[in-house]
Amino acid sequence: MNTSRPIRARISREALRHNYRLAKQMAPAASAWAVIKANAYGHGQWRAVEALRAEADGFAVLECENAVALREAGVTRPILLLEGIFSARDARAVAAHGLTTVVHCLDQLKLLLEAAPAGAPLAIYLKLNTGMNRLGMGVADLRVARELLAGAPGPQLTLMTHFAEADGERGVAEQLACFKAMAGDWQGPVSLANSAAILRHPQAHADWVRPGIMLYGASPFAETSAEALGLRPAMAFESALIGVQNLAPGARVGYGGTFVAERPMRIGIVACGYADGYPRHAPSGTPIAVMGHRTGTVGRVSMDMLACDLSDIPDAGIGAPVTLWGNGVAGYVPADAVAAAAGTIAYELFCAVAPRVPVAVDS
Ligand SMILES: *Cc1c(COP(=O)(O)O)cnc(C)c1O
Repeated sequence: MNTSRPIRARISREALRHNYRLAKQMAPAASAWAVIKANAYGHGQWRAVEALRAEADGFAVLECENAVALREAGVTRPILLLEGIFSARDARAVAAHGLTTVVHCLDQLKLLLEAAPAGAPLAIYLKLNTGMNRLGMGVADLRVARELLAGAPGPQLTLMTHFAEADGERGVAEQLACFKAMAGDWQGPVSLANSAAILRHPQAHADWVRPGIMLYGASPFAETSAEALGLRPAMAFESALIGVQNLAPGARVGYGGTFVAERPMRIGIVACGYADGYPRHAPSGTPIAVMGHRTGTVGRVSMDMLACDLSDIPDAGIGAPVTLWGNGVAGYVPADAVAAAAGTIAYELFCAVAPRVPVAVDS
């Protein structure tokens, strides 16, 4: 619904394409799944598909229903189910629509083999647990899986794993060594790298990379900005001032009065709150831009509003544009900087943008 309340999320298809191309440039020998799970990290699955359909080597989603919807919308490229199937119905859909599915345990493999019509060619990503200890098989189950699959009609098999610390100090070395030991004499295709590994660990690029957060223009690294990595923000989260207050020294702002003015100051009230997806835990001083100037929030974030310091922006009055994050009319605020201030990551901010926020699409 398009409302007159000034809040908007603007999605740049051009930025999505730029970021996908950067992933391809970083891993030139690999094909790349555009990871569009979680409604394309809050950017809109269909917007991402539209932006990337001409060039993405494949799309990676979570729910089988979404994969089928992509097929029904005419997407003919490979589609990967990142957690595999959850039901016999999913298994039949995988066969009927030529989906590629992760198999992360033997129970899932048995479900797939029992429910998929006999003789259906299957494309399977066998997932190995190399140290994250979330999903994935150990070496004994991998052997059983390969035996079970030996009878199936020429399944296309890929070995995959997922890194827990590709963005951190420990990197990928241990998990990569574990993967190689488990894979043994495996000659087929391999898929390992998320955004952090694409950007930092070329030895882990393998055959298919799986860029997620980098497509949306945020950095997977705490200490390296998206800008320094050459990424462009795909979402601008914007609003405007709907109120202005002049504070006397000692005046408090917002619920709980957590912010106290130490001097006379002007603050702006922004039409954006935690019900729009702005993090409630963002403390006073979280970066925000008003009319081209960087400033900080003041006081607690409310459900529908937050406040910001206008002391150095005397021209900003009601209606002045505000950028909450991204490259907006009012200036550039990295989502990563807002996330860091609020003790979270840009992934969570993007996914939290609320359905009540109208979305506009740029070219
Ligand atoms: C979400 C996901 C990715 C993408 O990770 P980013 O850190 O966003 O690049 C890659 N692989 C798997 C298995 C995932 O679930």
